[in-house]
Amino acid sequence: MTLKVNQIVHHEKSKYQDVLIFESSDYGMVLVLDNVIQCTERDEFAYQEMITHLGMFSHPNPKRVLVIGGGDGGVLREIVKHESVEEAVLCDIDEAVIRLSKKYLPGMSVGFQHPNVKVHIGDGFKFLEDKKDTFDVIITDSSDPEGPAESLFKKPYFELLFGALREGGVMTTQAENPWLHMKLIAELKKSCGEVFPVAEYGWTTIPTYPAGQIGFMVCCKDSSRNVKKPLRSLSEQEEDKQFRYYSKQVHEAAYVLPKFAEKALR
Ligand code: SAM
Repeated sequence: MTLKVNQIVHHEKSKYQDVLIFESSDYGMVLVLDNVIQCTERDEFAYQEMITHLGMFSHPNPKRVLVIGGGDGGVLREIVKHESVEEAVLCDIDEAVIRLSKKYLPGMSVGFQHPNVKVHIGDGFKFLEDKKDTFDVIITDSSDPEGPAESLFKKPYFELLFGALREGGVMTTQAENPWLHMKLIAELKKSCGEVFPVAEYGWTTIPTYPAGQIGFMVCCKDSSRNVKKPLRSLSEQEEDKQFRYYSKQVHEAAYVLPKFAEKALR
């Protein structure tokens, strides 16, 4: 998969990572961190909608939501589509990503404009350690485990998430691709399963991520919750208006994995 660069729009070394934004010939603006594509204007919705709504529609009435990472604002944009949300807090380690997304990725950073949104700059692991706040849904929209997001893929982090979730709380995390990271995903599923009574892996298709797919761990504190089926759903007309990828059918289909992946995660 290659992208043609029309022009480099911005490039800087922030306190934490190399931040590059370029205009591509066919995928719109592209955000790259430490040489890894984070999101492109053309296909970001596939990821933002799925990492958000697989979790949000698995909760009966999400009022307080937390995003760890998500500095482009796309997940926030999706969260506030749920009328039940009273407060959405975002904690990203790097102010440069937020600053540059507001300047160059308006379709995603629109998420920061909602009045119920609060932004905190800092390490997500520390934020959860220090804060005694509790949330209904926590979404970890992080970059890959090499670099500042390394601690967000390990069991101690999942234990912090468990402690920060209210009764019946749901969490989702970015959980890589079975074609490339099957071993990591099996470890993720194992450690999530040691912390949460419900821990499932679902995936989406997205052309600009390696091998064209990426998945999510979806976990719940309530052992009776079936996260593979939406607890709530919108009418087809409402879904047509709100989403470009997610639907109640896609929610269920996300957990149907090819045999090699299903076996590895059993
Ligand atoms: N959709 C992308 C993906 O799947 O790779 C992730 C997009 S978002 C831009 C990733 C964000 O994670 C970045 O803004 C980065 O600054 C943030 N991040 C990385 N490590 C972090 C940490 N330890 N705490 C909080 N945010 C972190």
